[in-house]
Amino acid sequence: MKITEIHIYSHDLPVKNGPYTMANAEVWALDATLVKLVTDNGLVGWGETCPVGPTYAEAHAAGARAAVAQMANGLLGAEVSLLGLHRRMDGLLNGHNYAKAAIDIAAHDLLGKHFGVSVSELLGGAEVDKVPSYYATGVGAPDDIATLAAGKLAEGYPRLQIKVGGRPVEVDIETIRKVWEVIGGSGMRLAVDGNRGWTTRDALRVSRECPDIPFVMEQPCNTIEDLQKIRPQLGHPIYMDENSTDLNTVISAAGTGLVDGFGMKVTRIGGLQPMRTFRDLCEARNLPHTCDDSWGGDIIAAACVHIGATVRPDLLEGVWLAAPYIEGNYDAQNGIRIDGGHIQVPTGPGLGVVPDETRFGAPVASF
Ligand SMILES: [Mg+2]
Repeated sequence: MKITEIHIYSHDLPVKNGPYTMANAEVWALDATLVKLVTDNGLVGWGETCPVGPTYAEAHAAGARAAVAQMANGLLGAEVSLLGLHRRMDGLLNGHNYAKAAIDIAAHDLLGKHFGVSVSELLGGAEVDKVPSYYATGVGAPDDIATLAAGKLAEGYPRLQIKVGGRPVEVDIETIRKVWEVIGGSGMRLAVDGNRGWTTRDALRVSRECPDIPFVMEQPCNTIEDLQKIRPQLGHPIYMDENSTDLNTVISAAGTGLVDGFGMKVTRIGGLQPMRTFRDLCEARNLPHTCDDSWGGDIIAAACVHIGATVRPDLLEGVWLAAPYIEGNYDAQNGIRIDGGHIQVPTGPGLGVVPDETRFGAPVASF
């Protein structure tokens, strides 16, 4: 099965009740990039990548489309094989994992359809029919976030992530305390995500002043060196998110015991093929992790749910989707939805979602 056509689309995803606020960004709308691969046996596979604005990671929407276009002519005629495609992409463009992920996801969709199996079966087999999600709040006033926490607990979310940073650290500490007053003892797990926004001074202070609250501290500071500096002094487990840009970084972070787990984004690491290696490395070291993406619609959501379903259940910290923040689905019938804090795993073939491509308009480039 060989690739005969590549089409690139741009699609606007406005944020419901925007903006969504993080330590370093206010997000009003997202610009998703969709990739459609067509093969010589007439199959169609879909991929997607959607950086959450230009400051969350070293990635931006126009860059994703330019990178896919840069590789496109070199991918025409290529066999749809997962390792082979990655090696071919690496030979055409250095880095830019987040763009390569769109091709990788489309290739998984194609192979699933070709063999008549779901993507989770391709990835080793689903352990569950439903995966847990977690709710991520924006940065907000302590009382507002505590009220939101109560609502998400009632909805059935097993885990909550609160965003902090970009303001006086006292307000962050007050937010953590007020949220814990609401969810403490309920069984709901808590992550505090600094999105690189704290200084090492702030991170150490939060850990010192909240010794009684069992939260996970996610990507509190900007660099790996910052994490190395605070690690021996922290009373809380530390998860790496934004810094884990590739498997090499993950191997070092896991291998040296720098972190206790990861927030992992499927597109950041380059798609589902590297993600399965990441999953297996984490299992070998007993490290919990999420299976997320930064943003995007049904195609990314389906990819995250399929890989999430294959993770050893006690190590899966949840699958975060942008679904609560965006309107509608690409696939009106089988689109990915969160119900009671959990997500049904789509059944195949492939990703199990078929986008209504009329929503995307004409491709911005075709090869
Ligand atoms: Mg995070």
